[in-house]
This record gives sequence, structure tokens and C-alpha cells, in this order.
Amino acid sequence: MALMGRMMSDPLLISSLLTHAERHSGETEIVSKRVEGDLHRSNWREVARRSRQAAQAFARLGAEPGDRIATLAWNGHRHLEIYYGSSGSALVCHTINPRLFPEQIVWIANDAADRILCFDATFLPLVEKIAPLLKTVQHFVLMTSRPHMPASSAIPNLLCFDDLLDAETGDYAWPQFDENTASSICYTSGTTGHPKGAVYSHRSTVLHGYAAALPDAMDCSGRDVILPVVPMFHVNAWGLPYSAAIVGCKLVLPGPHLDGKSLYELFEGEKVSFSAGVPTVWLGLLNYVKANNLKFSTFKRTVIGGSACPPAMMKSLQQDFGIEVIHAWGMTEMSPLGTLSKLTTRQLDLPAEQQQRLLEKQGRVIYGVDMAIIDDEGRSLPWDGQSAGNLVVRGHWVISQYFNHDESPLVSVDGQPGWFPTGDVATIDADGFMQITDRSKDVIKSGGEWISSIDLENIAMAHPAVHEAAVIAARHPKWDERPLLVVVKKPDAAVTREELLAFYEGRIAKWQIPDDIAFVTEIPHTATGKVQKLKLREQFLNHVLPSA
Ligand code: ADP
Repeated sequence: MALMGRMMSDPLLISSLLTHAERHSGETEIVSKRVEGDLHRSNWREVARRSRQAAQAFARLGAEPGDRIATLAWNGHRHLEIYYGSSGSALVCHTINPRLFPEQIVWIANDAADRILCFDATFLPLVEKIAPLLKTVQHFVLMTSRPHMPASSAIPNLLCFDDLLDAETGDYAWPQFDENTASSICYTSGTTGHPKGAVYSHRSTVLHGYAAALPDAMDCSGRDVILPVVPMFHVNAWGLPYSAAIVGCKLVLPGPHLDGKSLYELFEGEKVSFSAGVPTVWLGLLNYVKANNLKFSTFKRTVIGGSACPPAMMKSLQQDFGIEVIHAWGMTEMSPLGTLSKLTTRQLDLPAEQQQRLLEKQGRVIYGVDMAIIDDEGRSLPWDGQSAGNLVVRGHWVISQYFNHDESPLVSVDGQPGWFPTGDVATIDADGFMQITDRSKDVIKSGGEWISSIDLENIAMAHPAVHEAAVIAARHPKWDERPLLVVVKKPDAAVTREELLAFYEGRIAKWQIPDDIAFVTEIPHTATGKVQKLKLREQFLNHVLPSA
């Protein structure tokens, strides 16, 4: 019989992260730019106390283990206190994306059967409108202090978050329970069908938090000052609220103030060293900094993910500002981290151009996640950097099932079950660097060969006259599909169809160059800012290619 270890085995609970931060980094600051307009200063000790008070308050409102506590909120200390207060007391923190359409929010809150809804003042008009439609919500809590409560509201018995906390002692011992207990729920912003909930566990969240902090991942340390631009309503701000507690570093939470100027002032004023966000955010910040001839004095590195980081943006951050860009890939179903692009020792000797191309890939997996690329029959494809296939993953923080869905989403690889299909299409090279070449629902297949719309978009985006570019498949009688480039020009910029097509020469294989270009004034986006390819495809359904 196997010999058992003689080690302590406390469950991996989210409350233990907070207790650690409180005991060992209690004075380390949590700074929040609040909806109220002020810059609020707190620390891990204070956040831990208020999280315990929040746990007591939720219990007093009748919440029981497993109940969902929903939030519609920006990044701020109160949101952090709800994260820890709910999960820590065996409740489930359900962060809802406020940028979704109201009908979708209602659908999601009802699907999750949320019991209490906490929200920032920004969303009061929204919540007043949808409150009657939220079938399961029993209490509405405005995340503010008494002086900022509205004189009257369409919501009966609107509660004040700070009042609820002040009524509690904070004398509360975090309960111990099974580490596989649900800790939080996040719905994917799927563009087809209804959104689906990914239910994280304490175990998955703690392990993800550990791994995310590793040097070849986000490289977090206690000496960092982290400003997550990525919202706390978007896959737990990529786990940063947990990793920050693990390393005990300072957190700066920007609230709703995400424009270039506000962010720059916060980065400088609070000595931010590390940040994370989607490419769009950096566009705004970079434009502001460049237009005003500014420099960053403490900002050293950033994780960019959520969609492919345009190489031109990566170069600008690196060369103009000396900021290391860590390109990352993941998804809601993965908590979200899957891969990050960091060079290996051997690659440090490669010419700069080759290094750059590696860094532009989505990168290598961190321990805790594994990946494979497969063909349509579930056979794994070689890691040669050329063969593109459906990307599948498995690991400690990958979902096995969606909330309220009994069927398993998992597939088999070479006959072995238990892999989650990401819906992304990728190559993996011999060093394990994964590169997304497309999405399976959004792929261009020309004469049986893949064409990457992302590559084509990146090239177009590198043209000085292009503001935004999206490539979709247009019908072609011979090749089945051919790429159509849809472009929004920069204001006052001029470029012709011929000039832009010529721009592709030498930058990509001739047969991959788009067949046609459509100039438009606007490209449709989802609530999370992704290009709505389906809508775009519908828009250009009857587009006749000159080559057809
Ligand atoms: P997130 O946006 O936080 O990664 P989502 O679940 O909203 O999570 O979206 C996940 C999808 O976004 C991925 O399946 C992939 O299609 C795309 N994606 C995420 N990161 C990247 C990246 N670095 N490059 C290309 N696509 C990405």
C-alpha cells in the first residue's frame, strides 16, 4: 500500500489569500479611484476587515452557502471586498459585465439566480430599469457611502454598502470547507446563443493565482505596484486580485476612469510598475502619452491579451517607452490564463527580429495547463509551427462543464477524453510556442487551405492610414472562400484600394492577400469590444468579389 505523506492539508481557500496578505503585508496600500471622484487609500489589513464585515452583512441579509452575490461594478476596493467577503464565506461572487445589453444582463442574472446585487452608482439608472425583471434578486446594494446615496430611487429598500459594513463587527472567522466549492461565476460574452457561465472553485482560483504570479507568467512580486486595467467583471481581472494578495503587493484600482489621461496620471502618481489589459486600452493611453510628449517613470511591463496584440503596438511600447510586453492568451473558461510569451534561455541568443516574432506569438503554457492542436477527427497535429488545428486545453483551472448545462463540452484527443475545445485555431512550434491563427467559427478556408484573418488584419493595421481593420470570408465560386478586408480609415487619411492591396506585397504569401477591400465608417463590436465577425459577414453576404 502507498505510504501517505505526513503533511498538513488545509483546503486551498480564497480566504487564505486574504489572511496571508493581511498578516504579512497589512500596511501595503490598495488605492482606488472611485466613482465618487475621489482617490481612496486603503490597505490589505483594512480590506480584510471590511471583507469580513461584508461576509457578516451578506449573512444578515439571509445569504446562505452557495448563494450568488452579483456585482455590476468597476475596479475598486469595495468590489475587492465583495470578491473576498462573498467567496470567503462560501457564497459565490458573480461578476456581471455591465457593458452587455440590459436584456443580456437580465438573462444572465436570472440564469445564475443571483440573490443579492451590488452595484456602483454609475449603474443605478440601469439597475432601476431592470430591477423588476430580476426574478431572484432579494436585495439591491449600492456600493457607496451614506452621503452619496440618492434621495430617492425607483428601487424599493435600496441598501447602502458602507452602512451594511459599518453595522458589523468584523469579528468573523472564515469558515473552512471543501476547496472544490464554487467561489465565483463569470459568463462568457459569446456572440452566438445565450452566454454561458464558467463556475470557478476555490482550488482552481488559488492554483491559478499562484501560477499567474510566476516569473514566466505575469512575474508578480511584493515590490510591484499593479494596476489591473482589465476589469474585475472580466474573468476576475485575469486573477490579479488574487495574485496580488499572494505576493502582497500594492494594488491600484482605476474605477471607471479608463481614458488615457486619467490612466497616465494614476500610473505616475501611484508609481505603477505593472499592468494588464486588452489592446484597445493601450491605444488610448499611448495616443495620450505620445500626443503630450510624455514618458513613464515607473511603468516597466504589461500583459496584453484578450485579443491578439498588434505587433506595431508591441513595438511602440517596447521601443518608445521601454515597457516589456507580455503577450498572453486565455479565455473565460480558463480562469483565464493559458499561455504567455516569454523567451527561453536558448532563444536569448537569436537575432532580435526572430525574438520579436516569438514574442508576438501567444506563447507557452504555464504549469497547470496543457494544450494540443487537433484536426476535425480529434487527431493531434505536429508541433511544427506550420500545422494549424483546433486548440484544446486541460488543466486545474479549465472548466469541465458550464453552469446549468448538463452536457459535457469536452472532447477527446487521440482517443483520450477530457479536453476543452477553445474554438481557436492555432499552431504550436517545436519549443511549445502557440500562435493563434484564427477562430474556428471565424476562419477563412480557401481551396482547403487556412488563411489567417488575424495576420491580414495586423498588416492592414500597420498601414498609417488604417484606423481599424477586420477580415472576413467572402464567398468565391472557385475557392469557396476568399478574404475580404473591411477597413475604417483614420480621419483625414487617404488610401486607395490599390495602395492598400499593394501594401500586402512581400508581407504575406500572394495567395493570402485579400481579394477586395470595403471601406466603411464603422465596424460592429460586441459589448466587450470584439469585432462582431458574424454581423460583418451578414453585412457582406452578397458582396461580389472582383475575382469571382
Ligand atoms: P479573454 O478576453 O479574457 O481572453 P474571453 O473568454 O472573452 O476571455 O475570450 C477568449 C477568446 O479571446 C479566446 O478564445 C481567443 O479567441 C481570444 N483571445 C484571447 N487572447 C488572445 C490573444 N492574445 N490573441 C488572440 N486571441 C485571443
